[in-house]
This record gives sequence, structure tokens and C-alpha cells, in this order.
Amino acid sequence: MTESWKKKIDARIAEEERMRLLKIKLDEIARKAQEQEKNQRQIRELGNKFQCCVCGKRAVKPLAIYNETRECVGMREFSHFVWTTPGDLCICKICKQWACSDHIYQEICQNCAEKL
Ligand SMILES: [Zn+2]
Ligand SMILES: [Zn+2]
Repeated sequence: MTESWKKKIDARIAEEERMRLLKIKLDEIARKAQEQEKNQRQIRELGNKFQCCVCGKRAVKPLAIYNETRECVGMREFSHFVWTTPGDLCICKICKQWACSDHIYQEICQNCAEKL
């Protein structure tokens, strides 16, 4: 039979452990919220910087960089995002402006195509 003063110590240790885990959980939630906020800010900034030169559609995706995995040729593994380049707009080879997939064809935007 455990003596009551020892039980008290056990209870205290259990409580401390509970608080420690709770703090870890709260920190994790705060970190995720912060990350999400940062991500949304970066998307806003990307959209401010890059728009389709034909319809004005804003970029919402950064350029994603993939690595070829060594084990399996042709398989690509996500590496990182490039926040200074949009991933959903292409650059026109004539006017050097960005255009969305609806307004670029063979690397030439609709604006430039109409002037051809
Ligand atoms: Zn467009
Ligand atoms: Zn163009």
C-alpha cells in the first residue's frame, strides 16, 4: 500500500506532466497558426507582384521545386517553394510579362498573339 504522502507526490508529478503536454499542444497550435498566416501573407504578396497581363488574374501558387529521386528515375520528390516566382503563371517570351494558363500558348501571351 502506497503511503498517502507518496501519493501526493505522484499526483503532483502527474499534474506537471499533464501541464507539460498541454503546453506542447498549445505551442504546436500557435506555431501552425503562425505558419498558416505567413503562408497567406506570402500568397498575397505573390498575387500583388504577379498578375496575368491579359486578364489580371493574380498568382496564388509559388513555383514548386522538385528533386529527381536517385532510387527511381522519373520520380520527383517535392523540395521547396520559390516565393519570388509564381507557379501558376507563365512568362511570355515576347513581352516578358506573366500570363495565366488561359492566356498563354507556346510561351506567347494573347496580347502578343493578337499583334502578330
Ligand atoms: Zn489570364
Ligand atoms: Zn506577351
